[in-house]
Amino acid sequence: MTSFDPSADNAAIREGVAQVCARFPGPYWRDLDARRAYPDAFVKALTEGGYLSAMIPEEYGGSGLNLSAAAAILEEIHKNGCNAAACHAQMYTMGAVLRHGNAEQKRKYLPRIAEGSLRLQAFGVTEPTSGTDTLALRTTATREGDAYVVNGQKIWTSRAEHSDLMLLLARTSPPDEAERRTEGLSVFLIDLKALVGSGVTIKPIRTMMNHATTEVFFDQARIPASSLIGEEGKGFRYILSGMNAERILIAAECIGDAKWFLAKGAAYARERVVFRRPIGANQGVQFPLARAFAHALAAEAIVYRAAAMYDAGQNPGVEANSAKMLAADASWEAAEACLQTHGGFGFAEEYDVERKFRETRLYQVAPISTNLILCFLAERALGLPKSYA
Ligand SMILES: Cc1cc2nc3c(=O)[nH]c(=O)nc-3n(C[C@H](O)[C@H](O)[C@H](O)COP(=O)(O)OP(=O)(O)OC[C@H]3O[C@@H](n4cnc5c(N)ncnc54)[C@H](O)[C@@H]3O)c2cc1C
Repeated sequence: MTSFDPSADNAAIREGVAQVCARFPGPYWRDLDARRAYPDAFVKALTEGGYLSAMIPEEYGGSGLNLSAAAAILEEIHKNGCNAAACHAQMYTMGAVLRHGNAEQKRKYLPRIAEGSLRLQAFGVTEPTSGTDTLALRTTATREGDAYVVNGQKIWTSRAEHSDLMLLLARTSPPDEAERRTEGLSVFLIDLKALVGSGVTIKPIRTMMNHATTEVFFDQARIPASSLIGEEGKGFRYILSGMNAERILIAAECIGDAKWFLAKGAAYARERVVFRRPIGANQGVQFPLARAFAHALAAEAIVYRAAAMYDAGQNPGVEANSAKMLAADASWEAAEACLQTHGGFGFAEEYDVERKFRETRLYQVAPISTNLILCFLAERALGLPKSYA
C-alpha cells in the first residue's frame, strides 16, 4: 500500500527547522514588527543550519536538496510562527545562477552564498510603471566597453538593504528592435552593496507588515559585463523558468501559515469559555476552522505534487500556479477563521494572530496576484483566449 503524507516527508529536516524556530518565539517577531527591523539573528541561524543553501549543489558547499525539501523547510518555518519572507528569495533567485550562470560565476558566488558570507536576497523585476506586465519594464542596461550602464527604477525590491547581491532584470535592447516581445531583456547578478552611493540609491517602503521592501534607483550605475547571466536578450526566459519554483515555495509557506492559524485557532476555541462552555463546542466556531482545514489539506497535496513534478524535471506551470493560488486562499481562510475565533483578542498584538494575518495577506498579491493566476490557468489549462498580453 502506498501512502501520501507530504508533512511526513523530510521529517529530519522539518525537525531541525522546528528546533531553530523554537529559539525565535512570538516576542522576537513582535519586537521586529514594531520596529520594522530585519530578523538578522533568525536569518543567521537558518544560514548556520545550512537551510538557506539547501538547493545549492554539494560541490559548491550546499546540501544539494530538491525543491520538495526546500518547500518543507519554508513550510516548517511558517508553521512554527516565524516568517521566511526575510530570506526565501535566496532559494529561488539562486536557481537562475545555477541553471544559466557560467562556471566562473558559479565558482565565484555559490560557495560564498552557501557559507553565508554573501547574501543573494534581492530580486529586481517589478517596476512602478510595468506592474505585472514584466515585458513592459523600462530599466535599461547599455553596453559600454567592458561594462553595462544601468538606468531606471525598480519597486518592491524586497531585502535590498540586507542583500549583498541582486538578480536584476533589465532591458538590453529597445522593444521595437526585438524579434519577439519576450526578447531584449537580460539578467544580471550585480554587487548591490558596492553600487550603493555610486549609481544606486535604495529607499525603504513602509508596508502593513514587516517586509523590508524598497525602491531601487539606478542612475548611470556601471556594472562589469561579466555580471551578465547567460545570453544577452534571453533574460525573460531565464526568469520565467525560476517562477514555478518561486510559486511552489511561497505556496509551501502559505500551507505553513494555514497550519499555524488552525492550531492557534483550535487551541483558543478549546480553552476560551463563554456562556459556561468552551466556544469550540459551538458549530458556528468549529465549522469555519474545519472548512479551512479541509481546504488547507487539499492545497497541501497540490503543493507537494507540483514540487515532485518540478523535481522530476517537468515544467509544472499549471500545477505550480494552482498550488500558489489554492495555498494562498487556504492560508487566508485559516487566518480569517483564527482571528474570528479569537474575538477581540485576535486584534491584540500579544496573540500574534493580527501580525500573521497581515503577513499572509500579501500572498494574494505577490509574487503573482490571484487574478493573473486565473488568467494563466484559463489560457493554459482551458484553452481560452489570452487576456493578459
Ligand atoms: C511586499 C511586497 C514585496 C514584493 N517583493 C518583490 C520583489 O522582491 N521583487 C519584485 O520584483 N517584485 C516584488 N513585489 C512585486 C509583486 O510581485 C507585484 O506587486 C505583483 O506581481 C503585482 O504587481 P503590481 O503590484 O504592479 O499590480 P498590477 O500589475 O498593477 O495589478 C493590480 C491589480 O490588477 C489586477 N490585474 C492586472 N492585470 C490584470 C488582468 N489582465 N486581468 C485581471 N486582473 C488584472 C491584478 O491582479 C492586481 O490585483 C513585491 C510586492 C509586494 C507588495
